[in-house]
Amino acid sequence: MIAIYPGSFDPITFGHLDIIKRGCLLFERVIVAVLRNPNKSPLFTVQERLEQIRLATQHLPNVEVDSFAGLTVEYARLRHAQVLLRGLRVLSDFEMELQMAHTNKTLSQEMETVFLATSNEYSFLSSSVVKEIARFGGSVDHLVPQHVALDIYKCYAQNPGSNQTTNNTTTTTTNYPKVEREV
Ligand code: ADP
Repeated sequence: MIAIYPGSFDPITFGHLDIIKRGCLLFERVIVAVLRNPNKSPLFTVQERLEQIRLATQHLPNVEVDSFAGLTVEYARLRHAQVLLRGLRVLSDFEMELQMAHTNKTLSQEMETVFLATSNEYSFLSSSVVKEIARFGGSVDHLVPQHVALDIYKCYAQNPGSNQTTNNTTTTTTNYPKVEREV
């Protein structure tokens, strides 16, 4: 069985990697698929995120990394995948994820969504949390792979006080000019 693990991965964290590794034990192939979403203002371009994920998963032989636009179920169908893999952290994730799973079921009866509960130590971890810490000069070495941490530090060194976050919330902390980044 082939599983698609779709998401923004802006950037990939140890929480995502935990889901990927455990997915690899359950499925023949796990396709980590970065959604090209024009409605979000990501910190990293799709190309950068693909590189970050490839490096982070290169030791896992049954992982493939790709990007897609449009409906996840359409992409899954194209890739002959039967499963959408998602991670669950807190109750608020569940509400959104359940709604998404039901919606996807109405679009494709054959598609099953499989949820993996987060490992305890990553239950607080999200890409937004990582960016928030780094934005204020904190270390994220314990939250993301080393090469991703370096990319993040470089990004905020070039663009301190960046107000870009995954969920599009705007919290400007300084008057530094915002650097426009290609998605
Ligand atoms: P999105 O922007 O669609 O929420 P993300 O890239 O943040 O996507 O996450 C993709 C998937 O990974 C989602 O199912 C999300 O719940 C899951 N996920 C993210 N962080 C963690 C974590 N720390 N533990 C388990 N699952 C996680």
